Amino acid sequence: MDLRAIMFLLLLHFVALCHAQPVWDQDVDSEISGDSADDSISETILGLNNGSTEYLMEGDVLIPKTRTAMKCTGNPYSCLWPKSPNGKVYIPFNIIDKYSFSEKNTIIGALRAMEARTCIRFIPRTTQRAYISFEPKFGCFSQLGRIGGKQLVSLQRFGCVQHCIIQHEVLHAMGFYHEHTRSDRDRYIRINWGNIHKYEKHNFEKQDTNNLQIPYDYNSIMHYGRTAFGVRQAVTIVPIPDSSVEIGQREKLSDLDVLRINRLYRCSN
Ligand SMILES: [Zn+2]
Repeated sequence: MDLRAIMFLLLLHFVALCHAQPVWDQDVDSEISGDSADDSISETILGLNNGSTEYLMEGDVLIPKTRTAMKCTGNPYSCLWPKSPNGKVYIPFNIIDKYSFSEKNTIIGALRAMEARTCIRFIPRTTQRAYISFEPKFGCFSQLGRIGGKQLVSLQRFGCVQHCIIQHEVLHAMGFYHEHTRSDRDRYIRINWGNIHKYEKHNFEKQDTNNLQIPYDYNSIMHYGRTAFGVRQAVTIVPIPDSSVEIGQREKLSDLDVLRINRLYRCSN
């Protein structure tokens, strides 16, 4: 073998080394790595919230720094919006002026769609003490359940002001957790703990939820997508037994989402 051939082989070897799997990739279960085309609702929400200085449980539920996760202890309905004698549940809201006319219309359109098949009615806030305030902070996030005063639903401009994300965050404010953290989730999904960054594992802890005798809903607008919190887009949530079931939809409330609202708030429609 002449010198040129040896040099060529050495060059080939060097190129191969450059394309070798980095050592830190080996932490991820490559067998179940997801593709990078995850277009789920969580992909958008978590992407926008990346770098937030707020403490966000499960990626988009704001926990006040002065206390741990809010829990409806004592009166089980203390963190729900109250029902009026006419059977409607009125939720006052305010949209601050930093949004454009078009963005305000998108927010109102999402709220109107939530009213359509439920007894929930969103009304412009006048003097009510408890109300939702839509504001463009850094990211898309919400507080859980009715707080009792002004409560923030952050919808960052140019990202969070989308029909499905608005509804998702408002459902948190109405008392709903994520579907994939409900108490019986292990019968319906498998969590790939090895694909989750160690500092994000808490986002997959099960919650002590009231499941309202409603079946697990892969199609819920409150269900994150396959690669939520995945290291380098690895799959973290796998539906079982059929792993091909779609999750993380970002269109509109599912039929079971509507049922969930009606059952939690005891709507008669
Ligand atoms: Zn959420």
